[in-house]
Amino acid sequence: MKCPYCGNPDTRVIDSRPAEDNSSIRRRRSCDECGRRFTTYEKVETIPVIVIKKDNNREQYKRSKIEKGVLSACYKRPVPAEEIQRTIDAIELEIFNREEKEIPSSEIGEIVMDKLKELDPVAYVRFASVYREFKDANTFMDELKKFLQ
Ligand SMILES: [Zn+2]
Repeated sequence: MKCPYCGNPDTRVIDSRPAEDNSSIRRRRSCDECGRRFTTYEKVETIPVIVIKKDNNREQYKRSKIEKGVLSACYKRPVPAEEIQRTIDAIELEIFNREEKEIPSSEIGEIVMDKLKELDPVAYVRFASVYREFKDANTFMDELKKFLQ
């Protein structure tokens, strides 16, 4: 995003958090050229992120897809709905914080796994087993062991 003071096209995000209305993201940015800081509010639904799928096709980022993955990973787990939503928010923020116009679905998968790891071990392993497409029980066990260490 362009610096409003000096016009430098390259500014850094130093902090991002959901704004009070919850449908936009409040960002503090810093300009390396002039050293000034400013705040922007970006509507979540207007931040266009394109997901690069495994077959190299592109599709519009959808929160509902993340939601579906996280919800099915947490199915029948003792995780409060509120915490699930918070996790989805955190995943989404991290995706937007990359500030990339395009993000590979594999990178999103890694972010989801990271957050699920903190949320619930079973949900994490479930998601990882689907996501990493474990070919056999051994790879699955390897992953499980890595996690339990
Ligand atoms: Zn500047």
